[in-house]
Amino acid sequence: MQDINHYPFEVKSLSYAYDGLEPYIDEETMHLHHDKHYAGYVTKLNDALAMYPDYQHDSLESLLRSIPQLPESLKTPVQNFGGGVYNHELYFDNLSGERQQPSERMKQIISDSFGSMEAWELAIKDVGMSQFGSGYVWMTVDENEELHLIPTLNQNTPDLNKMYPILVIDLWEHAYYLKYNNRRDDYLNNIGYLINWKEVENRYDYATK
Ligand code: MN
Repeated sequence: MQDINHYPFEVKSLSYAYDGLEPYIDEETMHLHHDKHYAGYVTKLNDALAMYPDYQHDSLESLLRSIPQLPESLKTPVQNFGGGVYNHELYFDNLSGERQQPSERMKQIISDSFGSMEAWELAIKDVGMSQFGSGYVWMTVDENEELHLIPTLNQNTPDLNKMYPILVIDLWEHAYYLKYNNRRDDYLNNIGYLINWKEVENRYDYATK
């Protein structure tokens, strides 16, 4: 969450076991997702930065916030590989096998924005289902402390200069295809059981402090 990370970026371990999200997300999917997909982005991001010492002390967040100002040959690697690292770390942190409920306070904050928790659930699934192809669905907080549900394509992030992500759900097929095949709706229904609400609330507090 803090700007403490920089080149060479390291693969962060999951805070739960690979089978800790069963039965909703299977162990094999978590191994492939963490050890191959996410770790691959870490390697590719480091490879891209290896010849750019001027940028090796920048945090991942600051690299992503300053893509338009980067050297031309770094823009796409930071967008795709840097985004791939950032988005996956958030996604894995956003999950938990503990079957958490949002706090009463968090329920109220979400209900104030979306009408009710039920309306919020329908809305986030709707955004997730509407995203064509690979990407993510996010809940973000803007500078006015307002919540938003937004989709992004590929490994893009929301505009981190304007909003702070507090929840992200991976919509790439590699996140669910082994277990759910093409049934993204079932994956989105079940991921509701896995949300790490403590982490979401911590991120909300960080964004609004
Ligand atoms: Mn993924």
